[in-house]
Amino acid sequence: MTLDDIYSEMSNAKSVAVMAHIGPDGDAIGSCLAMGLAARDLGIETVDVLMKEYPKNFSYLPGIELIKEEPTLEEYDMAIVLDCPDIQRVHKDFWTVFDNANVKVEFDHHNKNAMFGDYNIVDSSSPACAQILVSSFEYLKIELTKDIMTCLLTGIITDTGGFRNSNITEATFDFAGYALSKGLNVSKIYREALTTMPKSKFEIHKIATSRIEFLYDGKVTYTYVTKEDDESVGVEPGDHEGIVEIGRDIEGVEVSIFICEKEEGFKASLRSNDYVNVSEICTTFGGGGHVKAAGATLTHDLEESKNLILKEVEKHLK
Ligand code: 5GP
Ligand code: MN
Repeated sequence: MTLDDIYSEMSNAKSVAVMAHIGPDGDAIGSCLAMGLAARDLGIETVDVLMKEYPKNFSYLPGIELIKEEPTLEEYDMAIVLDCPDIQRVHKDFWTVFDNANVKVEFDHHNKNAMFGDYNIVDSSSPACAQILVSSFEYLKIELTKDIMTCLLTGIITDTGGFRNSNITEATFDFAGYALSKGLNVSKIYREALTTMPKSKFEIHKIATSRIEFLYDGKVTYTYVTKEDDESVGVEPGDHEGIVEIGRDIEGVEVSIFICEKEEGFKASLRSNDYVNVSEICTTFGGGGHVKAAGATLTHDLEESKNLILKEVEKHLK
């Protein structure tokens, strides 16, 4: 079984680099820190979680000190990539770290995974990469310490939208119940991971909310923010998180679209409620994700990007 092989590789490794997708969310960070802490508990001497930036609201997470903006070694014994369907989604500065590692491992829950590791643990039915780590750690008898559980629960809470998304499973609640029974303050972790926001986040949400347009008989919502908007409120990493869900949560809406201007182009986030596969839509623009949550970056201008996405969404509406 692949998991046993990964465990024996970890038992022999002296150094490991852990990484996730660019623009890390709670699942990416929570999974990375949980894996980093587990690697440290297994006695691996050098454990680096490579990440350029992360939302500051996750600073409470145990193991946050493992995060490094640059690799500390030329070559690691192992590279472990989490919550990421292909290596292109990892920050390009870390590609050589991955290439140079003796053993390459990935754990992921995206539905179009490139299986780019020597060992790939991929389960697209899992609502969070962190939930795959829960069952993997249990199988391998890696101790679920309170610190590790805090990171894993953070990943699960954020990727399930606070236990609300339709991808939740029995195991989601089993783990939350287990964490509670072991003394974790689930309610506090929930607030820190998901609901408490810095003022800049509130301000950018306010701008995006005020611009929501209803299209196709109210089945689609669209909104956007520009770099100028971001500058006007002093946006920090993670502040756009949750904007796309505002439209999705309005009665009658099937697809919510949020476009955000970035250095590299216009980043679109799509969410659906019931029957539209937004991952398929985003794949046509070179992106991807999950059936009900996906994204892509377009290099057209804002109006054109909006119209291209709307045209694609229209094909999927009933
Ligand atoms: P979000 O809209 O929150 O950025 O992303 C929703 C989901 O789609 C996440 O699972 C994320 O990893 C995925 N996703 C977002 N943008 C892209 C992209 O450009 N390419 C791919 N392959 N997946 C993306
Ligand atoms: Mn995830």
